[in-house]
Amino acid sequence: MDRIVIIDYDGHHGNGTSDIFQNSKEVVYMSTHHWGIYPGTGAVNFVGEGEGEGQIVNVPFPGGSGDFSFYKAFDELFHPILNQFKPEMILVSFGGDAHYKDPLTGLALSSFGYVDFINKIYKSAKELCEGRLALYLEGGYHLQAQAEVVAGSIAVFQDKEIHMQYTDISDQLGKGKDSVEEAKEVHSSYWKL
Ligand SMILES: [Zn+2]
Repeated sequence: MDRIVIIDYDGHHGNGTSDIFQNSKEVVYMSTHHWGIYPGTGAVNFVGEGEGEGQIVNVPFPGGSGDFSFYKAFDELFHPILNQFKPEMILVSFGGDAHYKDPLTGLALSSFGYVDFINKIYKSAKELCEGRLALYLEGGYHLQAQAEVVAGSIAVFQDKEIHMQYTDISDQLGKGKDSVEEAKEVHSSYWKL
């Protein structure tokens, strides 16, 4: 395959993945993460280098960013880039530690937000690459929340829903919206946004 998109919505920046593919024209790496915590990488203005310039897409969020911030990042940045890059497969760094119950990061995704985000990615995979999509688990340190976002996401692939209990939505105002706007501005040199 020549074109892979990796979407990383673990609460931490995926510094290893970014390092490996920062020069690659075959991979687009898109990451949402809590800005200001470990590992400290993933600044909005780092876009990759050489043949990979424009293909590292970082959205460093302030604490408290949750469902509406993540939807905005997907709808206004990730989705148009997916449509323009036309991946042959989508991979997801699926970390449960952006959940509001998680003790390690300050992000605030609800379980609904998790599952909706996967649903959006799944729709893109069906439209663009015959549903070729793989999720692999990363962090997630509140075990019940982790369990329900994993089970809820797998249910999406079977057109089912499960009952979830950690569904408080605290981000109606989209605390991370400025971060998304900044990332759009940086990437408007490389993509139609
Ligand atoms: Zn993490």
